[in-house]
Amino acid sequence: MLHPLEDDTIMCPYCGEYFSVVIDCSVADQQYIEDCEVCCRPIEFHVVVNGNDDYALTVQTENE
Ligand SMILES: [Zn+2]
Repeated sequence: MLHPLEDDTIMCPYCGEYFSVVIDCSVADQQYIEDCEVCCRPIEFHVVVNGNDDYALTVQTENE
């Protein structure tokens, strides 16, 4: 069962550093920009929630 807010760790597509993010699982399909905590470049997040217990998070550079 997913919590409404899930902690996850992503790898920045620009600098390759890992940092933790909070995913809002109450929205089934969402796309947003959040700056990397390390290099401050804008990372595009795409979250797709699959039912009640799984979600897919992908990150990419803003221009990809
Ligand atoms: Zn970075």
